[in-house]
Amino acid sequence: MLKDKLNYPEILKQIEQDIQNDFGKGKLADYIPALANINPNQFAIHITTTLGEEYSVGNVDTLFSIQSISKVYTFTLALKQLNDDIWQRVGKEPSGNRFNSLVQLEYENGIPRNPFINAGAIVISDIIFDGLGKTKNKVLQFVRGLSPNQTISFDEEVADSEREFGHRNRAMANLMKSFGNLKNDTNDVLDVYFHQCSIQMTVKDLSRSLIYLANGGKSLSNQEIINYRQAKRINALMLTCGLYDAVGDFAYRVGLPAKSGVGGGIVAIIPNKLVISVWSPELNQAGNSYIGTKALELFTTYASNSIF
Ligand code: GLU
Repeated sequence: MLKDKLNYPEILKQIEQDIQNDFGKGKLADYIPALANINPNQFAIHITTTLGEEYSVGNVDTLFSIQSISKVYTFTLALKQLNDDIWQRVGKEPSGNRFNSLVQLEYENGIPRNPFINAGAIVISDIIFDGLGKTKNKVLQFVRGLSPNQTISFDEEVADSEREFGHRNRAMANLMKSFGNLKNDTNDVLDVYFHQCSIQMTVKDLSRSLIYLANGGKSLSNQEIINYRQAKRINALMLTCGLYDAVGDFAYRVGLPAKSGVGGGIVAIIPNKLVISVWSPELNQAGNSYIGTKALELFTTYASNSIF
């Protein structure tokens, strides 16, 4: 009924109504207490268009843990730094395995399949590492500048829990170190990784901060964050590797490059048009927001707009 009318406020209102019966169908992330104890009945969407228009619905001002979505920011920094040389350290193929799998790393000689699985993101943190304490603040400054919002911060409770329960990540870092694919001290690199996962922000901050991916690498004020080619590459990696091992199902249902995190956030890009971020903390079996995935599927259906 809404298909032919690109009325974003109306579309978002409709989506909010449509998802009301889906609370309770997913499950909160429970690998750390800080995520297991949040109110599951929350939902928000925010859209930032390349023309600078904004639309939102739901709990748009609530902070949430961006977790793996942070991998988009650190990958951007690493691509700026190394350009194509980055591919000597990390691959660009979907893994088909869990995001924290160790198996593939062993028989592929410590080269992670892509920058969006944990092992790949840890290598990326190693690439951008330029000093203990300095790197995590560099990441935070980058995110703050993109949003732009100087109040975006780490959630130290989440960062502590990540460290306390990060046994698999530590195992991956050590395995990669044994293959020579981690240059810096594993604990220092993991400190960056655990902190980037703990960054908290709102859906508003999230969609604003990544507008350069919908805008050929440029911010809304026309500042070049990365070049067009790099923006294209990040979008390609998001499409093929951004949704854990449910990337095929997501592409089939939603049809957009996107990145999710176990905090329940998902950010998706319509190149040359907009960035849409959703947050709802209950996850499906693959670790993607249950309601977030459905909301994005409804969005591309109602707006008749995807990359396909
Ligand atoms: N902090 C999580 C971990 O490293 C990241 C989870 C995610 O969002 O994929 O296990």
